[in-house]
Order: sequence, then structure tokens, then C-alpha cells
Amino acid sequence: MLIVTEQTCQEVVGREHAFEAVEKVFAAMARGDAYNFPVIREAIGHADAVYGFKSGFDRAGLALGVKSGGYWPGNMEKGLTNHQSTVFLFDPDTGRLAALVGGNYLTAIRTAASSAVSIAHLARKDAKVLGMVGAGHQAGFQLRAAVEQRDFERVVAWNHHPEMLPKLEQVAREIGLPFEAVEREELCARADVIITITSSFEPLLERNWIEPGTHISCMGTDTKGKQEVAADLVANATLFTDEIVQSVSIGETQHAIAAGIITGGDITSIGDVINGTHPGRSSEGEVTLFDGTGVGLQDLAVASVATKLAEAQGKAQIVEL
Ligand code: NAD
Repeated sequence: MLIVTEQTCQEVVGREHAFEAVEKVFAAMARGDAYNFPVIREAIGHADAVYGFKSGFDRAGLALGVKSGGYWPGNMEKGLTNHQSTVFLFDPDTGRLAALVGGNYLTAIRTAASSAVSIAHLARKDAKVLGMVGAGHQAGFQLRAAVEQRDFERVVAWNHHPEMLPKLEQVAREIGLPFEAVEREELCARADVIITITSSFEPLLERNWIEPGTHISCMGTDTKGKQEVAADLVANATLFTDEIVQSVSIGETQHAIAAGIITGGDITSIGDVINGTHPGRSSEGEVTLFDGTGVGLQDLAVASVATKLAEAQGKAQIVEL
């Protein structure tokens, strides 16, 4: 059995590895070669924590396992990140534990890779302005992965807590892009691609603010009740997602579904676009929206890559069970 630490994951797994792994597994899901098992997520009645599992099996990539973890709101005071997770990989031929992999950094880069894959396949080729809604832990990862997909010239950003924006501005500076803090309506008017990555429970973006041709990646809504954009904005866009079952239940489309203004049949798996069985964007004026809900198979895909790279570079610890 191999142990791959958080530190090693950061050393061996780059954005390009995460992009390739996530794109491949979305394609496998759409072909029916990979499937996610039902998600468990429970308030445990201790430390205000929410804990759960995301798991699945990718027959094409031979990744079997589970990400175990959750959210501990008091961790910050202890010098730890609030989100904590660990990935367990099993040998699909024998069921033996194959690897224990730190999941915190991997969660951030697999989530950033998800919206980056959607931008690569759905955004207009001439997109120049990236709009960031949110400036928390994930936002910097999102920004770095997104700007590698198009020739972006500027970042415009808004956050509910404006004091968090300078940290995101620093990321844009490191990449060499001008950064402006703006109001939400202006952000929508100027951005060609918008990423939402917040823990909001109410719509932050209105339908009539969105310009024709915009691509929106909604990445923050991963739980029942959360919401980042108006339900009629969702209904007015051409919809894509990582997994339809999750999108309609815990993702951004849940509110438009509940309002009865769309059905699951209006949503396309991004894997179909990757596989070429759906054309993706059909015109320059179309508004495309990707609902990135976050699936266990993404975690298994990047953890498998981390394990292979760490082993090849002699950075994995070997332990006999
Ligand atoms: P974080 O706690 O570091 O940051 C939270 C962000 O949400 C900040 O920008 C904060 O200002 C904003 N925010 C908080 N309350 C708000 C409100 N009432 N209205 C609007 N904005 C508000 O969290 P993070 O790690 O950056 O994660 C952001 C979101 O992404 C969370 O909801 C998290 O659950 C979700 N997430 C999704 C995936 C996925 O695969 N889709 C993966 C990881 C995290």
C-alpha cells in the first residue's frame, strides 16, 4: 500500500495533469464506462462538522475508491483548512487497499480542472475578459486553470466579502493580468466567461445582466439549498454538467428544476461534448452554463495520477498492511 502525502501531491500533480484526468473521466462517465456511487453527506452532531463519502468506479481508468471528508468550520482557528479530505484507492482486481492519498490540494485542482474543461469546450474562442464571483480558497485555483484555456486579457471580480479580493488580485498579478474589483452587474456586462465559486444560498447574478455569448461555470453550488445564479438565468442558458443526477438534486439547476422551468432532459453531460456526441456551443450568441457539482470520480482520477507520479518519482511511502 502506498501513502501519498498532501505535500507530495502538491509537488507531483500540476494543473495539466488534473485537466487531462478530469477530461478523461468526464468522457468515460458519458460513455457509461465510469459511474459514481450515491453520495453520503451528514451533519455528525460534533464540532458543527459535515462529513461524508464520494465514491465510484472508472472501468476505463481502473480507478476504484472513495474520498472521505467534509467541512469543519472551527478548523481555521486551529491553523487547518476547514475542508478536510483523504482519498482511499483500492485495487479493482482484488479489493486490497492500494493507496492513501491526501485529498485537500487534489480537491482544489480537480474542481478548477472541471470548470477549465468546460471553458475549453464551451467558451467562445475569442473570450478576453474573465469574471470571478467569489474570492475564497478555491477561487485562486479556478483563476489559474481558467486563464490557460483562452487568451484572457483582464480579470474582473466581485466578492460578498470585499476584504478577500486582494488575495485573488495577487494571483492575477502573478499571472500578469490586470485585475479590477467591480459590481456584479458590471462584471456580467464585461465578462466573456464567468466563474461563480461561493457558498451563497441566494442568486448573485440576474438573467438580464448576462450578455449573449457568455459562458458561465457555476462551481460553488454542491449542496441542497445553495444557489449562485437566478433560476430563470439557468432556464435561459444551454445547460451542461458533470453529472445530471447531481446537477438536478444538489447542483445549480436544482432551483430551475424545482420551479418547473427546466427538466433533467434539458441538461447535457459535458462528457458528451468531449466525446463529440454533442456539438457543445452552437452559436456565438448562445449563453452556455456549466454546472460543476463535483463528483467522486474526479477525486479518484486525480488521486490515481498523484499515486502513479509519486511512485515513479520515488516519493510515495510504501507500507505493508
Ligand atoms: P471559502 O469558505 O474559502 O470561500 C467562500 C466564498 O463564498 C468566499 O468568496 C465568500 O466571500 C463567499 N461567500 C460566503 N458567504 C456568502 C454569501 N452569503 N453570499 C455570497 N458569497 C458568499 O470556500 P471555498 O473553498 O472557496 O469554496 C467555495 C464554494 O465551492 C463552497 O460552496 C464549496 O462547497 C464549493 N466547492 C465546490 C466544489 C465542486 O466540485 N463543485 C468543490 C469544492 C468546493
